[in-house]
Amino acid sequence: MIHTEFKLNNGNTMPSFGLGTWRSEKGVVGEIVKYALLEADYKHIDCAAVYGNEKEIGKAFEEVFNSGKVKREDIFITSKLWNTKHKKENVEKACRQTLKDLKLDYLDLYLIHWGISFESGDENEPLDSEGYIRTENVSLRETWEAMENLVEKGLVKSIGVSNFSTQLILELLSYAKIRPAVNQIEAHPYNTQDLFLKYMKHEDILVTAYSPMGSPGGRDEGEDSLLEDDVILEFAKKYKKSPAQIALNWGISRDVVIIPKSTTKARIKENKQALDFEMTPE
Ligand code: NDP
Repeated sequence: MIHTEFKLNNGNTMPSFGLGTWRSEKGVVGEIVKYALLEADYKHIDCAAVYGNEKEIGKAFEEVFNSGKVKREDIFITSKLWNTKHKKENVEKACRQTLKDLKLDYLDLYLIHWGISFESGDENEPLDSEGYIRTENVSLRETWEAMENLVEKGLVKSIGVSNFSTQLILELLSYAKIRPAVNQIEAHPYNTQDLFLKYMKHEDILVTAYSPMGSPGGRDEGEDSLLEDDVILEFAKKYKKSPAQIALNWGISRDVVIIPKSTTKARIKENKQALDFEMTPE
């Protein structure tokens, strides 16, 4: 069954379909966000500080919300705390910077991007002389408590995590006063995550599936292409839909949120139309 929104474990609702913005280039992303919100009926935008494009997206939000055509409260906006900002004194600063860049008073959802802390600072991927990431000993508990503080201050409506394994979730739940509402993880037909999805449902943590089309722009050479897979192509023919629509429809039928990225206007529309049909369970 295709749901258009889900209820989070804190009572808030989250649209089941959103626009991804990773690798959405500067100079293009603003126009695309405006198009998605004003012309293609998108209600949900997935952002992150580390994508380096929040300032341009913020200008687009300002224009859209000032246009009177779309209200801020009708759009669900997510952003993510980067790995270099896990120390408690940096969490609120990073969130406030994202709010400033996105020109918003609050976020609907703020996620810990990865359960790993890099050395604090403004370099996104601090490397040592041998090319390894310089990490920093910050406990997840410290970071999570600072995230909880953001809810108490009204800066964010919901908090969650991303790329968290079963072990990290279990640890977090052992001290969380506010349970994570969402875990954003990779999931698509080449990486189905069946058991993990079951476990997340059991814990009442909603999954957002990233790379729902298998991230065709980010494949390594020689890697199979999901959108050219024989099974996907067979179903595209059967249902008279594009391969992307088959992958997305399959994704959303599993009771997860999907956030396909595109900076091509025709695909923005095409992807949204993936919600307009149902495939048989078989
Ligand atoms: P997707 O599976 O969304 O694939 C995006 C790629 O598919 C782009 O190259 C895009 O090209 C292309 N594409 C889009 N629509 C179509 C279509 N209809 N037909 C054919 N190709 C199409 O992968 P992403 O990795 O971007 O994941 C989506 C989002 O998830 C990200 O943008 C980000 O917001 C989030 N994410 C989060 C991560 C995390 O760690 N939490 C990690 C990875 C992603 P074009 O733009 O040229 O149309």
